[in-house]
Amino acid sequence: YAAKRTSRGVLAYLPVMEASSPRRLRLVTELRRAVEAGDLRVHYQPQVRLAGSELSGLEALVRWQHPEHGIVPPDEFIPVAEHTGVIGPLTQFVLQTALADLRDWGRRGHHFGMSVNISVRSLLDPGFVEEVGHALAASGVPAERLTLEITESSVMSDPERAVPVLERLRDMGVRLSVDDFGIGHSSLTYLRRLPVTEVKIDRSFVSTMVHSPEDLAIVRAVIDLSEPLGLTVVAEGVESEETRLELTRLGCGVIQGYLLSRPLAKVDLDRWLERRTVAGRPGSGPDRPLR
Ligand code: C2E
Ligand code: MG
Ligand code: MG
Ligand code: MG
Repeated sequence: YAAKRTSRGVLAYLPVMEASSPRRLRLVTELRRAVEAGDLRVHYQPQVRLAGSELSGLEALVRWQHPEHGIVPPDEFIPVAEHTGVIGPLTQFVLQTALADLRDWGRRGHHFGMSVNISVRSLLDPGFVEEVGHALAASGVPAERLTLEITESSVMSDPERAVPVLERLRDMGVRLSVDDFGIGHSSLTYLRRLPVTEVKIDRSFVSTMVHSPEDLAIVRAVIDLSEPLGLTVVAEGVESEETRLELTRLGCGVIQGYLLSRPLAKVDLDRWLERRTVAGRPGSGPDRPLR
């Protein structure tokens, strides 16, 4: 399907395809093979605390290193994976890779956290909590260093089933984050009933907040309501110094975005860490509290 490549990406035509179309079936087969063949990669994007600018954690973001098409972004294959059951092994791969890499960083004196995106389909999989426990045990990483990001819309799609699973994970010590948080799916006060420790403000508000009074108001409301609930607020999609300053003024806890770094392969993230050390930026020593 190389001929179908568009500016939006090799698989951009997928969402409109019939579930059983030959191309979609081929993609599913290829994706399944990619998981088995080790063609998936995990990239990491830094999250930095605004007060003190220390590195609080990394977000693990999956990529598909396609033999013909090069790097395929997750938005183009995660939805397919979710609808075909490939998401199970994919989630396990990302979780295990991220924890193994985190253990390696820990051995080299970096004690930041790791955030992993979890599809609701994986979250509601009967064996999921146990698999997270196994992955933590195998890596030797303390549960408190792992944050699982679940999108607001997915938690809200089936709260009766999702909340008990989130509670079991929380009881294990794992941190939980509501990803792509905005307004619309749930009221801010509903947050109090979720066993979460963190809220990530959706990029669509953050990237426009310095030009749009409405988006600024939403960002401010999320920050103001999260504070009394004891929730860490992460702003994703921070691309400008102006946005960083405004978020500092509003009392946001943590930022993530191209201003700091794009998601990087492990070797490149190592270089990013070295450059920070040379520049005299605060590290992430073992004596530092978790975010
Ligand atoms: P997300 O979890 O909300 O991740 C943040 C996305 O925003 C990432 O896109 C990241 O590269 C991008 N981003 C970060 N900072 C900036 C910025 O300053 N400007 C702009 N324009 N973009 C920024 P990415 O890596 O393409 O991932 C897209 C989505 O795919 C993720 O959104 C997440 O929902 C999903 N995803 C990625 N990896 C996984 C995974 O391992 N499992 C699951 N279930 N979903 C994943
Ligand atoms: Mg995320
Ligand atoms: Mg997000
Ligand atoms: Mg997103």
